[in-house]
Amino acid sequence: MNPPEFQDESDFPWGIGVFDAHCHPTDTMASIADIPRMKATTLTAMSTRGDDQDLVFQVASNLGNESGEGDEDAKQRILPCFGWHPWFSHQIIDDTTTSEDSQKSADEIKKAHYSTVLKPPPDDDFISSLPDPKPLSQLLSETRSRLERFPGSLVGEIGIDRAFRLPQPWTAEEHEIRDGGMTPGSREGRRLSPHQVRLEHQKAILEAQLRLAGELQRPVSVHSVQAHGGVIEVFKALWKGHERKIASRRERKRRGSHADAHAGSDEEDGDIQTSKKSNGAGADAGEHEAPAPGLPFPPRICMHSYSGPAETLKQFLHPSNPSDVYFSFSSVINFSHHSDKSVAVIKALPDDRVLIESDLHIAGQQMDDRLEEVTRQICAIRGWNLRQGVQQLADNWRRFVYGDALSNSL
Ligand SMILES: [Zn+2]
Repeated sequence: MNPPEFQDESDFPWGIGVFDAHCHPTDTMASIADIPRMKATTLTAMSTRGDDQDLVFQVASNLGNESGEGDEDAKQRILPCFGWHPWFSHQIIDDTTTSEDSQKSADEIKKAHYSTVLKPPPDDDFISSLPDPKPLSQLLSETRSRLERFPGSLVGEIGIDRAFRLPQPWTAEEHEIRDGGMTPGSREGRRLSPHQVRLEHQKAILEAQLRLAGELQRPVSVHSVQAHGGVIEVFKALWKGHERKIASRRERKRRGSHADAHAGSDEEDGDIQTSKKSNGAGADAGEHEAPAPGLPFPPRICMHSYSGPAETLKQFLHPSNPSDVYFSFSSVINFSHHSDKSVAVIKALPDDRVLIESDLHIAGQQMDDRLEEVTRQICAIRGWNLRQGVQQLADNWRRFVYGDALSNSL
């Protein structure tokens, strides 16, 4: 990355509370035992596929607290998230819009499904290496019941990935030497096939999970690779008709002082805005109405390991958007591949929309180290001293997870 403009050499203030907004500790189950000894306060633990839904559920049952209440968060080491990742979206068959021909055998249905959702369509051998597709209706009902068991849980990891290609099936040899400590289902270094999941299918699976999050009013964690336009399109379709009314500059002036407290970005023409609901109790109550339960979109969205350009932020942060969008950064992804772009994005964001994540597939010391590293990087880029930065990032995570009411009381 660029040389930091400002480097705070102080000891890292873990005591303020450090929150990992996106990680996959259940991919290495042996590392779960290290979590109680970690310095980070809470890990926002994603699920992604069939193999890890129950693991996240179990780990959260053991290490979290089911109430999900904010005042318990000192004890809550794991915040569980339930969702189906775009890398596995081909395994879901959309039975909510198409009715399957009951004449077809399970095999015929499977073949037809994978030939439709994958491009180029795979041959029979490839298809036979894939699991029988899972009906979307079943995924949604299972996810709903997990979300209901953990009232504080989130929806994630969901999204769109236009760069992803399916891995080749395991060869017997590869399978023999695979690391048995890794939770099955991920790529694990296998060669890639040419097959991609069609964008329309990925969008449908994303949209269904966003609607579920909206219905239960849960925040979501979103993966987007080369797909920011597609993701925004899905959001906008769900936001349609629910846009926030934007007070004009004149109206805000008329209302007096506290509209001005959010100055610096007081145009309604798409400038990047700071949250109208941030920074302290009661800030701007009444500017927007809190979203009611049963809306088709989530109240808050985290764009995880955000890799888009700074210009695209305006679309995510437009003040009429009825979901508040946050952006989280990891040292692995954001500062090893596209550091200049990430630096520009982190500089352009409002203070109250930045989150940190490890995005690691193993818990423990490494995860703490990543969180410290990315926090120091972000503080240097934004010119925050460490204590101020750690506090801001902790406040942001609480607001992202619990919303305004609860985060203000913490
Ligand atoms: Zn992830």
